[in-house]
Amino acid sequence: MAMNRVQFQPGLSMAEFFAQFGTETQCESALAATRWPDGFRCSRCNASAHCILRASSRPLFQCNACRHQTSLIAGTVFQGTKLSLRRWFMAIYLISQAKTGLSALALMRHLGVSYPTAWLVHHKLMEAMAAREECYVLEGQVQIDDAYLGGERNGGTAGRGSENKLPFIAAVSLTDDGRPVRAKLTPVATFSSEAVARWAKSNLAAGCTVHSDGLGCFRAVTAAGCRHEPVTIAGRKPKELPEFQWVNTVLGNLKTSLSGCYHAFAFRKYAARYLGAFAYRFNRRFNLKTLHQRLLVAAVHCAPQPQRVIRMAEERSCSRSFGRSRTPGTPASSSRRRASAPQTSVAHPTGYTPAKAFGQRPKCRDVQPMCPVSVAAHVSGSTLFNSCGYGERPTRAPPMVILGRS
Ligand SMILES: [Zn+2]
Repeated sequence: MAMNRVQFQPGLSMAEFFAQFGTETQCESALAATRWPDGFRCSRCNASAHCILRASSRPLFQCNACRHQTSLIAGTVFQGTKLSLRRWFMAIYLISQAKTGLSALALMRHLGVSYPTAWLVHHKLMEAMAAREECYVLEGQVQIDDAYLGGERNGGTAGRGSENKLPFIAAVSLTDDGRPVRAKLTPVATFSSEAVARWAKSNLAAGCTVHSDGLGCFRAVTAAGCRHEPVTIAGRKPKELPEFQWVNTVLGNLKTSLSGCYHAFAFRKYAARYLGAFAYRFNRRFNLKTLHQRLLVAAVHCAPQPQRVIRMAEERSCSRSFGRSRTPGTPASSSRRRASAPQTSVAHPTGYTPAKAFGQRPKCRDVQPMCPVSVAAHVSGSTLFNSCGYGERPTRAPPMVILGRS
């Protein structure tokens, strides 16, 4: 068999990883270098002169000009963790180097932590990966298809109308010579023209050419300034459809990854996160050796994710399917990255703002954290807030109210 250059590429060996990140001090240095690549900058006055205080278990960076103190992990996805950075780095390494992903159970055994801790670490890192994927749009030639997570229930509705299937759009952009570049897997509420138009405006660059099957709603990609070229399937099998070779290949890889890595997961709640993590890994498939470093960058640029926010996945999943803006503070050097768009925010009735809770650092997500004094579900404007308190394991579906969403 020919040696595929993606499959046979060298990764980062475990010996190399432990030589670079084997101690807490090495991990702190790597995190500081990733967070401040041009040296420390005070988040309040932008001065660079500082000193490092080591009164607690983690270093505090104190600005010499204004005396403002910043923790190394504040404002990142690591904020609030009691886990050592060494274990976080091990999780980043294991998740980034596993070709088909890693389950929370496997992470629990590798890290030597409890399952709830491993689950939370896993979801926080998947959230960082999914958030990073939102920064990019597809351009050029794009193959798209409708796909579903889940299966039909006995006695339930078959086909696209099954109540146990979660619809998502699979899309792959191609180079001029027909090689796959980037993939996007986005849950949608339903395959309607409105949902596809909203998805296209958020995920496709204007001027790209979209190839789809004859499903009528895909005509709506023209609303985003894209050209639509439908292909008549006429009973042909997938292998007889070169027009959809790469989107079918990605869906095949996704199926292998999910079935090989997880026994089950709550796809209705966390689909966007799992699909985003798969796409993140696929889109960086040529750089396995540096993938841990790129995931560390994603983790540093991701807003803090308390457990109650991590468990609010329905709202976030819904937001993704309805389009999200690229966030301030997220780098946009690549032409494929999405142009900035107005952010959505919801005023809290008590005046609570995340800026008060987390300082003035720009957040890379426009989903607002829950009010810290309220763990009951509440609704503000048209945004769903849904919460189960820290450490709680709900025995039934958490309360949920959705307004203004189809
Ligand atoms: Zn300062």
